[in-house]
Amino acid sequence: MAHQRGIPGAHPSTAVLTRGFDPRLSVGSARPAVFRSSTYVFATPEAAERAFNLVSGREQAEPGEVPDLIYSRFNHPNAEILEDQIVPIEEGSEWAMAFNSGMAAIMTSLLAVLQPGDSMVYTVPLYGGTQNLIHELIEKLGIVCRPVVAGHSAQLEEAINTTPNLKVVLIESPANPTMVMTDIKRACLTAAHLNPKPCVMVDNTFLGPAFQHPMTLGADLVIYSATKYLGGFSDLLAGVVLGSDPELNKRIRSRRGLFGNILQPDECWILDGRLPTVSLRMNRQSKNAQRVAESLVNRPEIRKVYYPTLFDDPEQIRIRLSQCDYPGAMIAIELHGGKPAAFEFIRHLRLAHNAVSLGGMETLVCHPGSTTHSGCSLEERRIAGITDGLVRISIGVEDWRDLLGDFENALEQSAKLVGSVAR
Ligand SMILES: *Cc1c(COP(=O)(O)O)cnc(C)c1O
Repeated sequence: MAHQRGIPGAHPSTAVLTRGFDPRLSVGSARPAVFRSSTYVFATPEAAERAFNLVSGREQAEPGEVPDLIYSRFNHPNAEILEDQIVPIEEGSEWAMAFNSGMAAIMTSLLAVLQPGDSMVYTVPLYGGTQNLIHELIEKLGIVCRPVVAGHSAQLEEAINTTPNLKVVLIESPANPTMVMTDIKRACLTAAHLNPKPCVMVDNTFLGPAFQHPMTLGADLVIYSATKYLGGFSDLLAGVVLGSDPELNKRIRSRRGLFGNILQPDECWILDGRLPTVSLRMNRQSKNAQRVAESLVNRPEIRKVYYPTLFDDPEQIRIRLSQCDYPGAMIAIELHGGKPAAFEFIRHLRLAHNAVSLGGMETLVCHPGSTTHSGCSLEERRIAGITDGLVRISIGVEDWRDLLGDFENALEQSAKLVGSVAR
């Protein structure tokens, strides 16, 4: 707990298992205990005073000093262990903060940086919840929010250079559900020329932490819905923010203490146990997805398969090769025959479940137009490429041949009922 153990300079897959956890503080247990206490006992009244002076920022910790725990809305051992252990798997990060959902992580980060009168530039499409947060809360606080269509690097650069009082650049890449990519490095370089420099935040939920490393591209904050790949089993809600600037850490941490949206001990413990396998799971899921996506390309029932290895735009191919190690496990397919074909396809799946969310061990399929993106205007859908025939697939760790067989069978059944194949 806040103890830097393990081998200095160890690789991420070693460090995630060895740093940040001292078995002596868990009665020798090889895995961390769960500390459910809401409050912590001080050794002396002076220690209590010192702890409050440190948490409020009135005093600074001495080198090597481990601040006493106070109360679990501010901090608790399982959050500390999780936060120490997740840092090595996000290249370039130096600190992490756990939240009780991805939305809590995004909201708290934005509210730690933005003030009324400031402005923010963001890529669209964004995750639906984030989009609603911007319209229903951030804009109403008197913050100017300017959208730029994902993948349009020159327009993003222009928006960053010309928006007055710019404090935040929020990038979600790849974009949900068609995987359009935004050049993170170019946006960071543009932002770096401004004074004061806006904070570049990247929602890295779709490809991180295994395949995309925004901190190494110049981002200030990397944000996750840990509900997805980090959690990996569709059994918990969580969010994580990672960064390297101590000032940002302090500001976000103090907001989290006020809002009370720290992740609870049990969830921290579960999520911490999932960290060593994130890369193993994501690699298997990506391999599966690539085989499925590339096998579906020539199906007569499908108009287009959206998947990073199947990009045809040269600029998108360039971005993918420069910022992503592997293509990931999210696929979107557009069926001939519109919504009826999409619905029949989903109805006839026997292995994949019809559910929103993504990143779990099991394959999930949804129809974005009527579910995740049903709140979008027609114009927003057009920009995001969300047609009536579009189906989103989150590939799990099943055998890819079984998944492909399931999809092929459902495509045949759908085409039989709707009569829609390419001529
Ligand atoms: C799911 C998701 C979120 C929101 O996360 P929750 O854990 O559901 O609050 C944010 N961004 C992206 C890209 C997501 O997929």
